[in-house]
Amino acid sequence: MSPPPRVPFFDAATQQRSVMAETQAAIQEVLDQARFIVGPQVGEFERAFAGFVGVGHAVGVSSGLDALRLALSAVDVGPGDEVILPANTYIATALAVSAVGARPVLVDCDPRTYLIDCGQIASAITPGTKAVIPVHLTGQAADMDSVLGLAGAHGLHVVEDAAQAHGTTYRDRSCGTLGTLGCFSFYPSKNLGACGDAGMVTTGDDRLADRVRRLRKYHHVEKGVNARLDTLQAAILSVRLRRLAAWNQARIEHASSYRRLLADVGDLTFQEQTPSSNHVYHLLVVETERRDALREHLRAAGVETGVHYPVPIHLQPAYQDLGYKPGDFPNAERLAVRMLSLPMFPELRPDQIEFVADQVGQFFDGAAQR
Ligand SMILES: *Cc1c(COP(=O)(O)O)cnc(C)c1O
Repeated sequence: MSPPPRVPFFDAATQQRSVMAETQAAIQEVLDQARFIVGPQVGEFERAFAGFVGVGHAVGVSSGLDALRLALSAVDVGPGDEVILPANTYIATALAVSAVGARPVLVDCDPRTYLIDCGQIASAITPGTKAVIPVHLTGQAADMDSVLGLAGAHGLHVVEDAAQAHGTTYRDRSCGTLGTLGCFSFYPSKNLGACGDAGMVTTGDDRLADRVRRLRKYHHVEKGVNARLDTLQAAILSVRLRRLAAWNQARIEHASSYRRLLADVGDLTFQEQTPSSNHVYHLLVVETERRDALREHLRAAGVETGVHYPVPIHLQPAYQDLGYKPGDFPNAERLAVRMLSLPMFPELRPDQIEFVADQVGQFFDGAAQR
């Protein structure tokens, strides 16, 4: 077995140890009550999460992908419809559109913020367009004034992909409250993660909340699916939600340490921060011409990194049927070969950040000397 990395990309075990006793108590309570399917812990977590986000309704579902899928179904997106989303996102955003039988229509991203380029949305709208999915990628909000303006003008629904944006605010309003519906993932490595798969749909609309509640389970009135939030995961998530604000704050501090320590590294560019949003740093992304070599240098030094995402949606094998080709979304393609996500999680220690920064500095110094 190879030794554990000196700096992991994400450290689920350390995070779990920090909430172990409370988690065990929460699990024991579920076992004692034995109300396993949508037990009281689901409603408790839904209310707590709605309070955290500042939204009327939160409906627990089985994953982030299912949150997106049910949100699209709730606004009647289906076969024959088109849904606009950015080419630079996790493939689940597009898979949700496909899952309801609609067609993903892609637009490029901004080369500096990596978020959907709203200037390109208008030209992607056709009579078939039914919705747009802004993705609050890496923990920053998309330009929602532009998205909502265009959506209003063209009668489109806005389904926010907030899977990386627990605690992200846009002009002081939380992501997940800005569009028609908001969709969260609690995949273990997300800012708020479960001990397995889980997700949430948020909305201020009573009727849509009821609709998502009907769709998440087998139902006689509507053709629902089985996509409920697991009671054990809900109990676990309630414990972790109480730590989320502190965890996000730790991420923000780690990001400013990285920025400070790496400020003088010439060939490295940080993702730009947008003025209208905070940044909860689900990911800390830098860019460099020599990404693969830097990644290998860090790996050899025991530093785990990630690439989010190496293949834009339009070049994914699963999406060849959409008919896009290389060159269609040059900003997303350029990022795919330049982006690198550095280790980022709340429990990251100052000495680990310094070690990563030293190694990055050594890589570029060495390169300068050659
Ligand atoms: C994680 C993620 C999803 C999917 O969430 P799952 O819970 O893994 O299904 C969707 N969109 C984005 C942007 C994500 O990061």
